[in-house]
Amino acid sequence: MIGVGVRKLRTTVVGSYPKPSWLKYVLSCGDEKAIEDAYGDAVRAVVKDQEVAGVEILWDGEVRREEMTSYFAERIEGFVIYGEVRVWGNTYYPKPAIVDELRYSKPLVVHEFEFLKQVTDREIKVPITGAYTLVDWSFNEYYDSREEAVYALAEIINEELRRLVKAGAKFIQLDEPALSTHSSREELEVARNAVEIMLKGVNVYTALHVCYGEYERLFPEIMEFGVDQLDLEFANRGFSELDLLKEYGYDLDLGFGCIDVHSRRVESVEEVENAIDKVLTFMKPEKVYVDPDCGLKLLPREVAFEKLKVMCEAARRVRERV
Ligand SMILES: [Zn+2]
Repeated sequence: MIGVGVRKLRTTVVGSYPKPSWLKYVLSCGDEKAIEDAYGDAVRAVVKDQEVAGVEILWDGEVRREEMTSYFAERIEGFVIYGEVRVWGNTYYPKPAIVDELRYSKPLVVHEFEFLKQVTDREIKVPITGAYTLVDWSFNEYYDSREEAVYALAEIINEELRRLVKAGAKFIQLDEPALSTHSSREELEVARNAVEIMLKGVNVYTALHVCYGEYERLFPEIMEFGVDQLDLEFANRGFSELDLLKEYGYDLDLGFGCIDVHSRRVESVEEVENAIDKVLTFMKPEKVYVDPDCGLKLLPREVAFEKLKVMCEAARRVRERV
């Protein structure tokens, strides 16, 4: 079981993985049975890649999620999806809007988890976009304040997480990339309250993944959010943020992002070993989970696969000598 025993430097993923190239053709065919079969086979392919690479704690690559906000908005009552909105230079995404009271209407991730359990015997981590980010990346046209919308959505995520735990999930990760882009004390307080609501009665191992933005504005408050692990990116920042952890006497488990997901260059095993050694100068290997900085979906599949192989080999080598 996760979080128990003395296993060191467990390898995992943050969530997304490049979708098999053939999937888009099936999705546009209009045949529902073929589409459902294709999603299932895409999950099997992604899982196989991760297993062969040596990843110990898997996810399904988020192959059913076209995007990390709209996927959830489409499944929660009270949201509508507007057309494509431009973000980050030339990236466009369908922006949701809250136009009515938010209500739970159908499973968000439980079905993904149930399916994955049938496909792999390895441990599973279930990532879900958190309430703070979902609201931040949507228009709020119903609630009096953004804060109120965040808390309403957090209750819905909580309902889903309780269902997940009933279904047997042991490791849940809240994805809150928006957190590090707004980090006034008031905003951090809203995010902390939201995490508390989302995790009410969810008594399994939990992680909080934050990427983009400035981590220094989140510390030290973020260490008090009530999760077991913070999952952060380090490779893309030249590992300088490790100093921040040291400075604040970091003592939670750490999801150590050590693979750059924004670069197609495949790291060498030695390079990743060196990175892991840096963390081990101040953390015990039992508290460190080795993973990429973020989801791998924007990389070519063969590059993502190679990067995971390198990461797992580096973790294996370090494990042998610590
Ligand atoms: Zn991320």
